[in-house]
Amino acid sequence: MNFEQVRDELKQASSSIALLEQELSILFTALPDPIFIIDVNGCYLEVLAGNSRELYLDSNYLRGKCIKDLFSPELGESFMSAIHQALESKKLTLIEYEISSDDFLQSHTTSSNWFQGRIVPLKTNNKADRLVAWVAVNITDRKQLEHQLKELSQRDALTGLLNRRYLQEDVTKRIAAYKRYKNSFSLAFLDIDYFKNINDTFGHDTGDYVLKELSLVVDKEKRESDVFARFGGEEFILVFPDTSQNAAAVFLERLRALIERLSFETPTGEVTFTVSMGLTEIMELDGDFDSIVKRADKALYEAKNQGRNRLVIA
Ligand code: GH3
Ligand code: MG
Ligand code: MG
Repeated sequence: MNFEQVRDELKQASSSIALLEQELSILFTALPDPIFIIDVNGCYLEVLAGNSRELYLDSNYLRGKCIKDLFSPELGESFMSAIHQALESKKLTLIEYEISSDDFLQSHTTSSNWFQGRIVPLKTNNKADRLVAWVAVNITDRKQLEHQLKELSQRDALTGLLNRRYLQEDVTKRIAAYKRYKNSFSLAFLDIDYFKNINDTFGHDTGDYVLKELSLVVDKEKRESDVFARFGGEEFILVFPDTSQNAAAVFLERLRALIERLSFETPTGEVTFTVSMGLTEIMELDGDFDSIVKRADKALYEAKNQGRNRLVIA
């Protein structure tokens, strides 16, 4: 190959590279999610793409900075361990994380956002270079939707109280904690007396109204840590953590007397009613949710039998 030929080939190669660079630059401008090139020490070598300003702040300032100097120790550690995992496994590694202004070591204003980090180990010619490409995808909308769905699946539509499904999960965990750590708790069934009469006399809508109003009253009276759920129909369950049944009985007796005195103004007239309650405490022999609930239900049945508007302890 003579000098002219070498010169022409170099010219051609350099114009191909220029074209490639131009294409890449267009591509990065169009890509909404930022891509960070990060080394094994967690230092940002390059910041690419991420021009969607409604989803991402300008991250160009990260170039030359390192994770340990940017983020809180907990977040920084989780980032570093994800990077090391990607490098060691040589596979795509996923990490989901939330970043709020508190997570930055230096003051930085940003509202809280959720991201999925897609971390790909990079192949380089130099073996000493251990680099990853970290694509950050803003998943805040999805996380908010997940949160709303979770809330909905745990709540009763009419009263907004926790529902039976949530209660079952919660009590099952408490039974396990009791078996391991002896964390005791009490559980009460609460049922409106002659509720069918309220529906029959005042209409179903007023029945619904009464259920909502009662929920508000009990919710206001109970302690923050007590769990209050709608079991179904006009039946509710209260869980009292770290509380003996005798202590819970003091509260429930006060609640019973309060409800007896209340009068609810409804669109179809003034409604008064009473409640019956069955109370029990977790025992060694309780294997599951049903066994403790059954005992409380039996006590409730006894309260109904004895004439209603009363509390019976199992
Ligand atoms: P007891 O004193 O023995 O508890 O009598 P009760 O009438 O309260 O009990 P019963 O189980 O006979 O009737 C419960 C009624 O609650 C029947 C049902 O139609 C009504 N109910 C169940 N769920 C709802 C609801 O969401 N809204 C309304 N308005 N009524 C409901
Ligand atoms: Mg009833
Ligand atoms: Mg009932």
